[in-house]
Amino acid sequence: MEIDMQYQVKPFQEFISEFKTTLSELFKERNANPEEIITRSYSPEMLSKIMAHKPLSVAIPQEYGGRGLHVKECLALLEAASYESISLTLIFGINFALYLEPLAKYGHHVNKEPIYKRFLEEGKMGGLMISEPLYGSDALSMQTSHEKEGSNYKIQGTKHWQGLTGMADFWLVASRGKTSKGDLGRDISLFHVDVQQKDQNITVEEYYNNYGLYPIPYGKNKIDVRAPEENLLVPETTGIKMLMDTLHRSRMQFPGMAMGFLKRATEEASKYCNERLVRGNSLLQFDKVNHQIAELQNACTICAAMCYRSALTSGYKEDLALFGVEANTIKASVTDLMQQTAQTLTQLQGGNGYKIENLGARAIMDSRPFQIFEGPNEMLFSQISEGFTKTMTRQKNTNLFDYLSEHELCAQSASLFKEELNFHADRTIPQRKHVVLGRIIAKVIIANYVMELGNQGYANGLISNCIAGLKSDVKTLVSTFNASEQIMPVEHPSKDASWFDLV
Ligand SMILES: Cc1cc2nc3c(=O)[nH]c(=O)nc-3n(C[C@H](O)[C@H](O)[C@H](O)COP(=O)(O)OP(=O)(O)OC[C@H]3O[C@@H](n4cnc5c(N)ncnc54)[C@H](O)[C@@H]3O)c2cc1C
Repeated sequence: MEIDMQYQVKPFQEFISEFKTTLSELFKERNANPEEIITRSYSPEMLSKIMAHKPLSVAIPQEYGGRGLHVKECLALLEAASYESISLTLIFGINFALYLEPLAKYGHHVNKEPIYKRFLEEGKMGGLMISEPLYGSDALSMQTSHEKEGSNYKIQGTKHWQGLTGMADFWLVASRGKTSKGDLGRDISLFHVDVQQKDQNITVEEYYNNYGLYPIPYGKNKIDVRAPEENLLVPETTGIKMLMDTLHRSRMQFPGMAMGFLKRATEEASKYCNERLVRGNSLLQFDKVNHQIAELQNACTICAAMCYRSALTSGYKEDLALFGVEANTIKASVTDLMQQTAQTLTQLQGGNGYKIENLGARAIMDSRPFQIFEGPNEMLFSQISEGFTKTMTRQKNTNLFDYLSEHELCAQSASLFKEELNFHADRTIPQRKHVVLGRIIAKVIIANYVMELGNQGYANGLISNCIAGLKSDVKTLVSTFNASEQIMPVEHPSKDASWFDLV
């Protein structure tokens, strides 16, 4: 099949607006049919109409027929997809951040041309295999191993929960090298695997019944691969740094996957609340409803500020290995906003919100795993706090306001929170407090992003509402942080704990 090269040279606005029109038509039809909504794939006709626009071309370098990997275009494409479907945007997000971008940056050039050709001409897809049944959040302890056999590598292990299991042809598989004694080394390597090639076997042992994200297959994969040495991705320094660079870039693209959904949910909530009459008046007669709509708008503003920040900083040639604070702040905060937004939309739509053809109820389950994959949010927030308090203790500067006001990520915003942040924090606090402190620091960093967006001319009213919302969030979090209760689980909780026996 000849590729229509038009997509490569089309002005982006034209490219994206044609794509949006197709998506809008296809999803209008799909969402009108409850049975189709819970089908575990998109029909081949639907997928081929989507892929005919060459959406993955935005994450392919220009010299290989793509539009050149501009973060702004990648985020806008994710936004267009997420306006219609969280599953569709995740399919693109997986391909962009977990396969195409690391391949472009670290892959061997002999592999690139044939792979990109199959993406563009045949609509093939790729993903990343890190998690294993016994090692998920503790991914660095993974047991998948590789060893050299002549000029090939033998890679063996078991992975699970990979997005696009059984559907993608291309994978990056993470593994640890076997030492001469048979132990596993500490560093992580990434191998490009093409399941269409002889000896590159990834067998799906089981498909999972994921509750939500229905069109994306997940499951358990057995890896038994012999791959030529050019399939090894070449890090600039260590493999762990390459993996962190990849994961941080991916986390910084989450706002693209959130943006369309947050906008759509806000539009639907506003429309519903305007039109739904209770005692002859719209739902907007209630103060709490107005508060909820304003919070949905704030979520959109925060997400837009994150997109702006990512577009400027996370290009694939940048080294993001040390961007942990920003990547964790962005990923954990925006995914919490997705879940809160889904809950609020469902609530505002009352009983109607609970129908499968309504966005809110579906989005509760579709957005939920975003808080778990690529690092559970509690872990990411506590890492932020642990990093900050470690440096604060080392610098003997444990007053949070003093420290944040000198930090480059909070330079503009810290002064807004002067009163709230005027307390001491050191690294010995329990982990639950690290999680809360991480959330506080994230809010201050986000306020800085929002102010930067405001400086560029983004709608004034939305910016000032958003800052007011962040101030209120920080106040609540600080009072949680200062609470002294340290509740621990009771041992043997069922003993003497039957209300029935007491009546
Ligand atoms: C829908 C979905 C898509 C996924 N996509 C992919 C993919 O494409 N590729 C891939 O390789 N993997 C993928 N995963 C796997 C995902 O990355 C892991 O599930 C995740 O890292 C958590 O690992 P686990 O399931 O083993 O949970 P565990 O490691 O057992 O953790 C369970 C829970 O314990 C808590 N916890 C764990 N560690 C900490 C900590 N340090 N501090 C505080 N609390 C903690 C958290 O609440 C966490 O959710 C996906 C998972 C899902 C559900």
